[in-house]
Amino acid sequence: MNFTELGLSQELLHAIKESGYEEPTPIQKMAIPPILAGRDLVGSAQTGTGKTAAFALPSLHRLKEHGSCRALALAPTRELAIQIEENFCKYGKQMNLRMALLYGGVKYGKQLEQLRNEPDIIVATPGRLLDHLGQGNLHLNKIEILILDEVDRMLDMGFVEDVTRIIQKTPKSRQTLFFSATIPDSVRRLSKWALHKPAEAKIDIKISAADTVSHALYPVPAIQKFDLLISLLESIKFENLIIFFQTRRGTDKISQWLTEHGQTVRVLHSDLKQRDRMKALEDFKAGNVKILCATDVASRGLDISNVTHVINYDVPQHSEDYVHRIGRTGRARTEGEAFTLCKPEELSLVDSIEKLLGNPLPRKFIEDFAYRDEPASLAPAAPQVSKKRNRGFGKQVSFGGRRRR
Ligand code: ADP
Ligand code: MG
Repeated sequence: MNFTELGLSQELLHAIKESGYEEPTPIQKMAIPPILAGRDLVGSAQTGTGKTAAFALPSLHRLKEHGSCRALALAPTRELAIQIEENFCKYGKQMNLRMALLYGGVKYGKQLEQLRNEPDIIVATPGRLLDHLGQGNLHLNKIEILILDEVDRMLDMGFVEDVTRIIQKTPKSRQTLFFSATIPDSVRRLSKWALHKPAEAKIDIKISAADTVSHALYPVPAIQKFDLLISLLESIKFENLIIFFQTRRGTDKISQWLTEHGQTVRVLHSDLKQRDRMKALEDFKAGNVKILCATDVASRGLDISNVTHVINYDVPQHSEDYVHRIGRTGRARTEGEAFTLCKPEELSLVDSIEKLLGNPLPRKFIEDFAYRDEPASLAPAAPQVSKKRNRGFGKQVSFGGRRRR
């Protein structure tokens, strides 16, 4: 099924062509028809599989003509809200629709201006939207389409009450769309309350987890982690690299050390001012710097193209976060590599990641690196995983989890 067969308007088909999309991704094929038919929907698929277009294209199609405050998209972080707005603008370029982008940490002026301009589509983070609603700057009583993106993340971040309050302010007759990488119970519960007989579009995370990414685990004694990172950076050819850390302090400390080692890096975490976060992201996206040091703030949803490598300086505490972090690379059809540095104390975390992926992470050692401990003592053999579930990491697999024919 191609985009034309999905029944999207000429304006949208044109924008799709300009975006260089040849065919819909699996989640788009599954989600677009029910959304066009006006149904509620819960959509889930790994990051990087085109979920934004899966809701933005059919929503734009349904909005058609201009009318004030008819669609609302909620996102957990400002960066994500910005990205969603950019996508709506890109796909709706030939349509006569206006946007408002509302997020916290910045002044109200520009946002008020956008709201006075009768926007068709509002993209917002929950907190700032509630501020505007409280001040009477907009009303949600004409909302026809309500979209919650990254719902799992939104609930993880403690937004459940805010989101509930917002949903209650929209008309019951609305169409409601939930998109999420995973569907934990908390998301199920909220969707039961907020959605009416939803269609489901689900692409199994085990299939879609980074088919275009090859993975490796680098066992290392705790005190040699930074040295190993330096050796690794010297041994790989990367264009754009994100290094993930567990804590903000860790991110700051290691970026400082990297800078002292002559690397130019940018830092992205939630302690920074919004302006600095944006600047870091822009510099990285524009290719002004090749290394971004970040906490999980950056691991969800952000679409940064051309990330060739992800390095986990710390093994993520939650196995889902591993999938989200490596989702930053190997996006669309490009190939990527994901390396995880692991001290012996973190091996149990690796265990649960391997269970989630259904694949062992291959252990690797850097040849000339002077390990302080015997490599064998650092990394017990990878667990056996049944053949059926072994989807062959590292092999070339095309976008969306289908093997190339
Ligand atoms: P997700 O929300 O699932 O993490 P995004 O919506 O951010 O994924 O999309 C990831 C990338 O894939 C973006 O760069 C987007 O432009 C691109 N993309 C989306 N749909 C297609 C498609 N049909 N063909 C090729 N690339 C696509
Ligand atoms: Mg997304």
